[in-house]
Amino acid sequence: MSGTFVGMPAFPEAAREAVHDTTLRGNLRHATATIRAKRAKAVAEVADWAALREAGKQIKDHTLRHLDRYLVQLEEAVTAAGGTVHWAADADEANRIVADLVKATGESEVVKVKSMATQETGLNEALEAEGIRAYETDLAELIVQLGKDRPSHILVPAIHRNRGEIRDIFRSEMGEWGRPAPDGLTDTPAALAEAARLHLREKFLRAKVGISGANFMVAETGTLVVVESEGNGRMCLTLPETLISVVGIEKIVPTWRDLEVFLQTLPRSSTAERMNPYTSMWTGTSDVDGAATADGPRTFHLVLLDNGRTDTLADEVGRQALRCIRCSACLNVCPVYERAGGHAYGSVYPGPIGAILSPQLRGTRSEIDASLPYASSLCGACYEVCPVAIDIPEVLVHLRERVVQGGVVTERGAKVLLKPAKGHAAERAAMRAARWAFGRPGALRAGQRLASRTRRFHPRTLPGPGKAWSASRELPPVPAEPFRDWWQRTHGGKDGAK
Ligand code: SF4
Repeated sequence: MSGTFVGMPAFPEAAREAVHDTTLRGNLRHATATIRAKRAKAVAEVADWAALREAGKQIKDHTLRHLDRYLVQLEEAVTAAGGTVHWAADADEANRIVADLVKATGESEVVKVKSMATQETGLNEALEAEGIRAYETDLAELIVQLGKDRPSHILVPAIHRNRGEIRDIFRSEMGEWGRPAPDGLTDTPAALAEAARLHLREKFLRAKVGISGANFMVAETGTLVVVESEGNGRMCLTLPETLISVVGIEKIVPTWRDLEVFLQTLPRSSTAERMNPYTSMWTGTSDVDGAATADGPRTFHLVLLDNGRTDTLADEVGRQALRCIRCSACLNVCPVYERAGGHAYGSVYPGPIGAILSPQLRGTRSEIDASLPYASSLCGACYEVCPVAIDIPEVLVHLRERVVQGGVVTERGAKVLLKPAKGHAAERAAMRAARWAFGRPGALRAGQRLASRTRRFHPRTLPGPGKAWSASRELPPVPAEPFRDWWQRTHGGKDGAK
């Protein structure tokens, strides 16, 4: 992944400020609760939702098992349709390919469709270093870009901003980027959308190069698919002469027919819509008969991005993260995300999916990546809503194991083991003590009575290594009377037998 987030502190430290920011928490609570309720209603309308979910999971698993074959098939289909396919092993290579392609057109500006893959590679920053200005055209991405901010949600990157804050960003920043915000701009949704529309229109008409990602790639036809709600994507995909699409290799599906499943599950899981407002599909630069299309680019480049995906695929438990269709339903139900916000995850992929995807794409060896698998209460709400049934809690536990075994590398390059020996030794000692006590009922009873009698002196928090655990919770109080004594007193008989 790109180095944009290099040096991020571990999740608890990164989240500390966010959890004390009442405006941020209010914005997040309001937005996630609204989307959550709408999604639940949209999903409940579909009688065969469970079957669709299972079908999506099966299609993705089958594709990942035969990824090599389908990628070659895709390359052949795209090439036959007049496109050019490039392979990028990592973020730097992808950025270099894109920058060279833009420079070859002689242009110094590009318009962009919202794309997680190019955020992952840090493409905008890489292009800027080459003297190329990238304009985000998705409304939320525009807000993030104008505010010199970072995205905090997969679907709604500016979810941490309220309307008043957006109006202020437009007022102060739009002038610098071309057309200024209209005088007296209010914070009504219509006024803000109109300001963005006017700001972007001349960029659409002027741009000769468009850059996109894709939600899906169809191996059998070489077709790419972008789903969006605003229509800006359609403009970027059809108006510029050159289109460059940067897409993760896991976004492939074998056949056109497979889209039938995802075009039902994705809109309901993400924006809670029955059908997606704008679904753009393109196949190279020509139609199936080889005749040039009236709309769309004259030159098309597809950059296939690995960037840690084949390593992820090699992990039998962790590979299910590659099924993700980026709907963001797991973010909207996550109690940790709702309180910490997206920035604390130190990646363009926040929330539960970020907690399992980023450490796998980047490795679990930095402080932020080693902490992400712990950024969860393991409540399982993310698994319940995932339209491709990714068992996120299972992967989180699996990654925790990897973190403990592998340790982390600090910013200064020192390797620190996460005290596995100490942690495991303490656990083993506790288990040995429990086995000893449970094997001696008399000693257990004496210990329980002693604990009850001295309960007033017991601490409510743990010292030493247990301190972090009890920082946010109290130990349960010891009862005044042990259970066995209570049972004997109220039911009679030895050890409670009546
Ligand atoms: S993990 Fe599942 S719920 Fe979360 S974004 Fe991906 S597909 Fe959606």
